[in-house]
Amino acid sequence: MTARVLIVEDEGPLAELLRYNFEAEGFRVSHAETGEEAEILVREERPDLVVLDWMLPQASGIEICRRLRARPETRSIPIVMLTARGEEGDRIRGLATGADDYVVKPFSLPELMARVKAILRRAAPDRVSDVLQVGDIMLDRLAHKVTRGLRDVSVGPTEYRLLEFLMESPGRVLSRAQLLDGVWGRDAFVDERTVDVHIGRLRKSLIRGKERDPIRTVRGSGYVFGEPPGR
Ligand code: CA
Repeated sequence: MTARVLIVEDEGPLAELLRYNFEAEGFRVSHAETGEEAEILVREERPDLVVLDWMLPQASGIEICRRLRARPETRSIPIVMLTARGEEGDRIRGLATGADDYVVKPFSLPELMARVKAILRRAAPDRVSDVLQVGDIMLDRLAHKVTRGLRDVSVGPTEYRLLEFLMESPGRVLSRAQLLDGVWGRDAFVDERTVDVHIGRLRKSLIRGKERDPIRTVRGSGYVFGEPPGR
């Protein structure tokens, strides 16, 4: 799973607990303490889902939810609100403002996790599905296994993550910068040529004999995995 979740919560210990548990489930996690910070991170990191606390120091969660819904580029990001017990009216208001779901504090982590996954299964199925398949290539996230046709493909850990990332957006051109960001993380100390090296290794593992190269190099842009949709 490579889904990115943004946690917006000003209570440090709760934020840490959430981060720990989401990371343990394989999510990439970022954290904001205020709504204003969250708005910046949403624009920069494009999370797949936002866990948004209601009570924040400056703009409230509800206000941030409204702002995210108002902008076309952030309108469709799923939002799960955290609300305190007894804010029944608030909860309804939260859903009316456009949150996809909410949990009431103190909530159970498994419940929150189940709701988040249910939303992502609808909104971003490739980020959470157990198996990705493009053409004759299959990546099984549970077994951590790659196959092409009937053959097992052995890939190193970096190539595995790279393949997973490519297979989540088949037919789409991904720039080297996007690949670096998605596979190595934005803080990693690697340059864009590293991407080319690992693409080379991945191709070597995936292609035997006369098999087609599933990765297309788009000069000046980046790489595409598989055929464009509709072909
Ligand atoms: Ca709070």
